[in-house]
Amino acid sequence: MQRVATSPAPNLEASIRCCGIKLKRFHSGNKLQTFVMFDQFFKSSKTKPAMADALQVGTRTVPLLMVHHPRARRYLLRLRPDGTARVTIPRHGSIHAAREFAERNVAWLEQQFQRLAAQPKMQHGWMVGSEILFRGESVRVETDTDKHIRFGPERLKVAIPSADLRPAIQKHLRQLAAKELPARVRELAATHEIHYSRVSVRNQKSRWGSCSRRGTISLNWRLIQAPGMVRDYIILHELAHRRHMNHSDRFWREVARLCPNYPAAEQWVKQNGGLLR
Ligand SMILES: [Zn+2]
Repeated sequence: MQRVATSPAPNLEASIRCCGIKLKRFHSGNKLQTFVMFDQFFKSSKTKPAMADALQVGTRTVPLLMVHHPRARRYLLRLRPDGTARVTIPRHGSIHAAREFAERNVAWLEQQFQRLAAQPKMQHGWMVGSEILFRGESVRVETDTDKHIRFGPERLKVAIPSADLRPAIQKHLRQLAAKELPARVRELAATHEIHYSRVSVRNQKSRWGSCSRRGTISLNWRLIQAPGMVRDYIILHELAHRRHMNHSDRFWREVARLCPNYPAAEQWVKQNGGLLR
């Protein structure tokens, strides 16, 4: 999950119920807002060299990176998964003001550290003994005979069982997703008599799913890691866009009709946004 504090921007839409839940988690009070899409947007364009510093956050000394960004309109503060605080400096901003901005938001950073600590640990590298999320449950990666590993009911061959197994396991999960997700869309679409043109299973970094005007439903392969009710919610959400190509009240009424327990699924999505990395 990416978290960003921004300097006050009164016209900024507070929360975006974006297609496929690219949304939100924002932080009210102190006029701070988490704004995931800004971050994605800035990543894609050129930035000037960064200025490194450090910041005291409670008892922690946190590396602070300050990066000029010509297209940024305001200061943005983000806590990266590696524990570095990063401030984006807008076009006419300064290092000095960036540092002050970070200092003013130390309490917010502290809160983000607490949230990170409360989240289940997801190691970057996966190896024998790692717990990974599969169909909504934490399963342990274990060795099996003859260069094979297993997790849950899955078994797969790997070149070197002691290496980082993440690429091999992710490839396997993607293959499962590519088989299962389109089949599930077919079932749910048939049940609710909704038409779509095709399903593509993708590796999006910031979305669980989306639906194009032409009726293509794109789903994130990581849905194979989510509980079935979350997978179904995302699919039904996208299918509901075949009836309402927006996030209007009528759209959400349709979602509630198709998937009555969708608030619980959204809650899960919010808490597990960190999977999308
Ligand atoms: Zn949507």
